[in-house]
Amino acid sequence: MKREKSEALFEKAKSYFPGGVNSPVRAFRSVGGTPLFIEKGKGAHIWDADGNEFIDYCGSWGPLILGHANDKVVDAIKKAVEKGSSFGAPTALENDLAELILKNNKYIQKLRFVSSGTEAVMSAIRLARGYTKRNKILKFEGCYHGHSDSLLVKAGSGLVTFGNTSSAGVPEGVVNDTIVVSLNNEQAVKQAFAEFRDQIACVIIEPIPANNGLLLQRKEYLQFLRDICTENKTLLIFDEVINGFRVGFDGAAGYYNIQPDIITYGKIIGGGLPVGMYGSSVEIMSCISPEGPVYQAGTLSGNPVAMAAGIAQLTECLKPNFYQDLETKTQFLIDSIFSNLKSLQTSDS
Ligand SMILES: *Cc1c(COP(=O)(O)O)cnc(C)c1O
Repeated sequence: MKREKSEALFEKAKSYFPGGVNSPVRAFRSVGGTPLFIEKGKGAHIWDADGNEFIDYCGSWGPLILGHANDKVVDAIKKAVEKGSSFGAPTALENDLAELILKNNKYIQKLRFVSSGTEAVMSAIRLARGYTKRNKILKFEGCYHGHSDSLLVKAGSGLVTFGNTSSAGVPEGVVNDTIVVSLNNEQAVKQAFAEFRDQIACVIIEPIPANNGLLLQRKEYLQFLRDICTENKTLLIFDEVINGFRVGFDGAAGYYNIQPDIITYGKIIGGGLPVGMYGSSVEIMSCISPEGPVYQAGTLSGNPVAMAAGIAQLTECLKPNFYQDLETKTQFLIDSIFSNLKSLQTSDS
């Protein structure tokens, strides 16, 4: 396979960006080799700078549920951008995307658009702290919630630990309010609540943890978290940035039929453009500025081009049988992988 152009581009990129990339996972360190520089994509396929064609199983790490350069999404982006790309004032497109989401998701009543998943989660945590007037947050080992300071923590060795920073540049003082426990351990959560009675603002979880392999949780466990949060007046945050609009239009909340207090979305919601959001009840959302005292803002929040891309993509997701078709395709892929593995095993023995 020809790699000259990608390699030359990477050499140049290394003098421009740390590690030659603008997000660490793109450096290929965990898979070896040097990054492919992508020229274009269409549907399930991408082409690199050397003209090699690939089937893309990455899908930009989640956002591209319709594949690359979907005609409807591309048309919507073109139409929107011709009218201007940002105004710093509201547009009808923000209403349209919000309506599309809220009408089809009974777990949230109001939302705020931001520009990334990290920003969505960071804001959701601030909201939980502002609403409960408590400082501590509880997260789980193995769940990823973006790169904001208080979430860049790894668990220590005890059952209930205060986070150790997992990144240089994050002060201990910041992560001292982050409690980390292992997934699927009711005892650890109970112990944390006993130890920090009336101090925990929120419990945050990826309800379908998908950033460290797929760590499916039991519905009973998620329900346990719901109940213990309710008992302790702690908010439950479902971080659905990666699983949202993927297991169904109303995400894991809908899949498990569990009502979290705050939900975050990202990735698919923007049709491949930078969009995130957090949503909650009317009451909790009323804490957000300018209605309430919790400040949160963004120059490009609700950006019209990004809104248009999101509307186009989510409109496709809402069409009849969209998720059944996706399930059928996924099953086909899985079955084929397993049958190939089996035939490999047979030919080995
Ligand atoms: C990707 C992801 C984030 C961070 O989103 P970015 O858009 O990369 O900032 C947060 N939470 C979860 C569950 C994610 O998968």
